[in-house]
Amino acid sequence: MINILGLTRQQLKDSLSEHGHPSYRADQILEWIYQRRVLDFAEMSNLSKTLRAELGENFTLGSSVVQDVQRCPDETTKFLLRWPDNALTETVLIPDVSRNTVCVSSQVGCAVGCAFCASGLDGLKRSLSAAEIVEQVMRAQAELPETQRVSNVVVMGMGEPLANYDSVIRAVSIINAEWSLNIGARHITVSTIGIPKMIRKLAHEKLQITLAVSLHAGDDQLRKKLVPWSDKFTLPQIFAAIDYYYEKTHREVTLEYILLEGVNCSPADADKLARLAQGSRCNVNLINYNPVAETGFEPASRQTVLAFQQRLQSRGVNVHLRKSRGQQIDAACGQLRRRSQSATK
Ligand code: SF4
Repeated sequence: MINILGLTRQQLKDSLSEHGHPSYRADQILEWIYQRRVLDFAEMSNLSKTLRAELGENFTLGSSVVQDVQRCPDETTKFLLRWPDNALTETVLIPDVSRNTVCVSSQVGCAVGCAFCASGLDGLKRSLSAAEIVEQVMRAQAELPETQRVSNVVVMGMGEPLANYDSVIRAVSIINAEWSLNIGARHITVSTIGIPKMIRKLAHEKLQITLAVSLHAGDDQLRKKLVPWSDKFTLPQIFAAIDYYYEKTHREVTLEYILLEGVNCSPADADKLARLAQGSRCNVNLINYNPVAETGFEPASRQTVLAFQQRLQSRGVNVHLRKSRGQQIDAACGQLRRRSQSATK
């Protein structure tokens, strides 16, 4: 069975023509899926009954079931999806006044194993296919009223996107396409811990997406304790790749920095981060930590957050403090999945 959510328009046309159907059928099917949000061939009323039956025999329109949904008073909604192999992943819908953002996972678990993150605690199970990444956006969009659509996608959930490069790039191309969800490339963010070789490769994709690099420390010594893969990729190597990315795309890179009280948010830490941000074309997103019990880390106090932000600003860094959403649910990456897994063990 082929999952249509992972196919480009041309691939669907080719696949249909192999089964003897004219190519315009592909556009009809894609309109049902992406414009009318119909994920059941039986409801595609302008297709013949024979074609609908044939599609049902050869294609699928998604394969996950929503195992759990958690809604926060601020309307942040977290979905726990179960895939046919029983793998569990998380997707988060973050509605805001002017945008609806979906945070998707790119892998089941994560091999990086950041010290503060629930997703990496049990290692990597497998990577998600492009279809499974697109499907997460569709599941989240189904929650929205028909008058609203998903406007932004961040590949920032469970997993290291650049370790699942081909599937992530294909999924991004699909959700960006006019015949699909038509989400502007500038509204799509791919967040990585920084794999220099893959950042350079991404620079050549001719996608105007936003690249975010999760830094969390201003020097290699501390970063190695927080992000274990820093052993393989040093900050000078990562920033050389960031410079290359800017040179090729003219897109400023966002540095993500999670604030952990007593660990990485002293004035000296701010100064190191400022030097890195100013040495390249980068802006900084500060995110206060959403605690994960097993890790022992604490969020920074309000006072620490503001002092850190002001110190960066006073050094001329373009810095944003990201709103912490969904605090009343297990919104930190990997928490809902982990809680569900331990409940079923
Ligand atoms: S923070 Fe991201 S890269 Fe690090 S373990 Fe969690 S999911 Fe993996």
